Amino acid sequence: MGAGREHINPDLLSNYFSLCNDTLVEWSRRRFFCPDCLRDDVASGHLPMWRKSWCYVHSCICSVHDQELIALSDASHYSKAWDAFVQVCNSVSGSITAKDSRLPRFRSTTLMKVEHSLACSRVTQQNILVDLFNRLLSIFLQSPFRGSRGGAARIHFQSERGMRFADPPSFEQSISKGPSTADPSSRFGSVVFAASLLGILPHSRFLMFTKACEDAKTGMLIPKDLHRAAAFPYVDRAGYRVLHRYLGNFPRKDFPLLDRHLQLQEARYAREGVLSGHPFGVTLD
Ligand SMILES: [Zn+2]
Repeated sequence: MGAGREHINPDLLSNYFSLCNDTLVEWSRRRFFCPDCLRDDVASGHLPMWRKSWCYVHSCICSVHDQELIALSDASHYSKAWDAFVQVCNSVSGSITAKDSRLPRFRSTTLMKVEHSLACSRVTQQNILVDLFNRLLSIFLQSPFRGSRGGAARIHFQSERGMRFADPPSFEQSISKGPSTADPSSRFGSVVFAASLLGILPHSRFLMFTKACEDAKTGMLIPKDLHRAAAFPYVDRAGYRVLHRYLGNFPRKDFPLLDRHLQLQEARYAREGVLSGHPFGVTLD
């Protein structure tokens, strides 16, 4: 940690979160925090305080300390900031990533690139781009549903084992509510998938990411083929219609890599007999 800290601009990162989606996770699920922020509170003579920046559906790193947020095991109490401080102080195994890996710096520079690209896209395209980005994030962060392991980012990056929420009431909600229960590793992986497919991040950065994950020895093995790594979930015919509706209407030709990805998903869904005949991106009449 620390090597890339001087490159972080907290204002840019907070813009990123507000640009993506300022949806807050419901209170009982606000369980990810930065232990160093809490230590700073206590060191400066204050009670530990829970930060709002940790509570968004896409929050994954602390922009002040350049590290991945970690989970409080039981976030159901009103004293969660104090509980988190005590939990961290009583445990030396608070961090889920190797401190000497290059991932922390990679994460912050990647988020800044994504934020910059989303903010600086042509005004006419910005709404489509931001909307599509958020929808892809949710698909990759789909909650486990009826025996599935959830979206591709959860399958590849989830570092939090044994945490299980009740299945969402519908397939649609397993997608739309997925980001709120996903862990920070999955959220970041989902950002890389979505931004790569939309051409916001160059393919070289996706490959850097897979390499950094391997080097960090986090146990993540991500396919080098982006289209394989970011495969859409297995669905039945009704599920395909939900996915189709969820992605909505957008100009596929403006996003060549995503277009290619959708062609591959459609071919797979056709082989599996669930394709309705309506390609992604085209609204059903
Ligand atoms: Zn922090």
